[in-house]
Amino acid sequence: MNFLFDVDGTLTPSRQRMNYSFKLRFIEWIKKQQDSGNKVFFVTGSDKDKTVAQVGKDLWVLVDGSYQNCGNQLYKNGSLVKQSQWKMSSSLYSDICSLLKNSIWHGRAGKNIEERVGMVNISTVGREASIQLRKEYFEWDNKKGERQRIVSSLSSKYPELGFAVGGEISIDVYPKGKDKSQVLDDMIGESVFLGDRCEEGGNDFSIAEKSNKKYHIEDWKEMDSLLGKLEGLGNPNLYSYDFQNSFVEWDNGRMAYFFWGEDAAAMPIGSFSTREEAVLKREEYCDWFYSHKSPRGDWDTNEE
Ligand SMILES: [Mg+2]
Repeated sequence: MNFLFDVDGTLTPSRQRMNYSFKLRFIEWIKKQQDSGNKVFFVTGSDKDKTVAQVGKDLWVLVDGSYQNCGNQLYKNGSLVKQSQWKMSSSLYSDICSLLKNSIWHGRAGKNIEERVGMVNISTVGREASIQLRKEYFEWDNKKGERQRIVSSLSSKYPELGFAVGGEISIDVYPKGKDKSQVLDDMIGESVFLGDRCEEGGNDFSIAEKSNKKYHIEDWKEMDSLLGKLEGLGNPNLYSYDFQNSFVEWDNGRMAYFFWGEDAAAMPIGSFSTREEAVLKREEYCDWFYSHKSPRGDWDTNEE
C-alpha cells in the first residue's frame, strides 16, 4: 500500500510550518507503515526548499520519496532521482503577464510568476504576499472566481496545457497530464491519496480521482485525527495471505516485491539482478514463512 500525502494545507497550515506535536505523531505513524511494508510519499506542488522548510529535513528524508513540483521532480533520501525538462514558451509568458496586469485585485506583492521544474506557478497577488493579504485574496477570489477565469482564458488558447487552482492564491500551469497524478505511474500496488484540494479544479483533483482511495480533508487537524483510523488500512493480517500464489514485480528493475490477495498489498523482499532469482527467493520465503509462522520477522538476516 502506498500512502501519498499532499503537504501544504494537508500536513501543515497553508505556507506555514508543520505543528510539532502532530509531526511527532506523524513520524511514528510513518515508521509503523514502513515496518509493515507500506510506503509513504509526499506529492506536493512546492519545490524542495519550501517543503523542507515546512516539514523539516528529518521528516523529508524519512518518507520513501518526496515528489516536488507536482510530480515533476523526485527526491529519495535527500537525493534528486529524476526531473522534468519542460519550460514555458515566450507567448505563454506574455499572455500570463497581460492577464495578471489586467486583474482588478488591489493588493500586489512580488513573485507573481514563478518558474518551477516542469511547471509555472502564477498568482495575481504574488507569492511574497503576507498571510493577511493571501487570506484577503482567497476570500475575494472565492466570491469573484478570478483564478477560474484565468484558467478558462488560458486553456482555450493552450489546449496542450493543464491548469490547477492550488493553495490560496495561485494557479499551476504544466503540460497536460504532467500534474500530481503522474506519480501514480511509479507506484506498485494500491495507492491512497490524502489532500486538501481534491475538488474539481483543485490541484489534488486528478491524483485523488485516479488513486484507489482518496481522503479529502479540510486541514492538518483533520489529518491528525484521521491517522489513527488509517492504521488498520496499513497493517494487513499477513497470516491470511497465500504467498505461493503471489507473484513478483519490479521497481525500476531492481527491487522485487510480493503481491498477494485482493488487497494487492506489496512487500519488499530484497534486491535481485534477475526475475528468476527473485522467484527462487519467493519459494524460500514461503518455506520460511510457513515453518516460522511469523508474519515478517528478520527474514533477510535469517536466510542469509
Ligand atoms: Mg494542498
